[in-house]
Amino acid sequence: MKIFCIGRNYAKHAKELGNTVPTEPVYFMKPDSALLPKKQPFFYPNFTKDLHYEVELVIKICKLGKNISKKFASTYYNEIGLGIDFTARDIQLECKAKGLPWEKAKAFDYSAPLSREFIQKSEFKNLDDIAFSLEKNGEIVQKGNSKDMLFNFDHLICYLSQFMTLKIGDLIFTGTPAGVGPVKIGDQLIGYIGDRKMLDLNIK
Ligand code: ZN
Repeated sequence: MKIFCIGRNYAKHAKELGNTVPTEPVYFMKPDSALLPKKQPFFYPNFTKDLHYEVELVIKICKLGKNISKKFASTYYNEIGLGIDFTARDIQLECKAKGLPWEKAKAFDYSAPLSREFIQKSEFKNLDDIAFSLEKNGEIVQKGNSKDMLFNFDHLICYLSQFMTLKIGDLIFTGTPAGVGPVKIGDQLIGYIGDRKMLDLNIK
């Protein structure tokens, strides 16, 4: 399976990092080794001094497809979960400045902790109105809603499937809202979709 991540999909977040608001989706990928195995704690990686959280809604692909049309895009995912796109911001800034790829900053081991539970699409009243949030040490640090995505789930599926075949089990991290920031050892991150607790992570 593969993991797609969408960059700059929330205008306010694009601006907080000094990026322009994109006119088409920006994506990058993480390998399957970026998933954090169940019950394994998350350890602060030793190669960064500025590890940032980015909470994101994640959709899971349920059908093989290529060149998927907008009309059918919604049939390619059934479940929505929550994930954190951990980013070594110091390394990413270096890569950006040199015009180099981001993998070193984004695709490292365990950089994509994922909620164990996924929620059936049918449980949501409106997929374009899904609230989610992240708490750090008991304080809300990020608040997002799928209605603020520049490119919605269906759009992302059409777009990505032009370039790569989507396979069952592939994940799409759909972008982070404003409020990204650093973590340190000892911090606790809790992620929610609506009021539902999806993720609980201690930084070791
Ligand atoms: Zn992200």
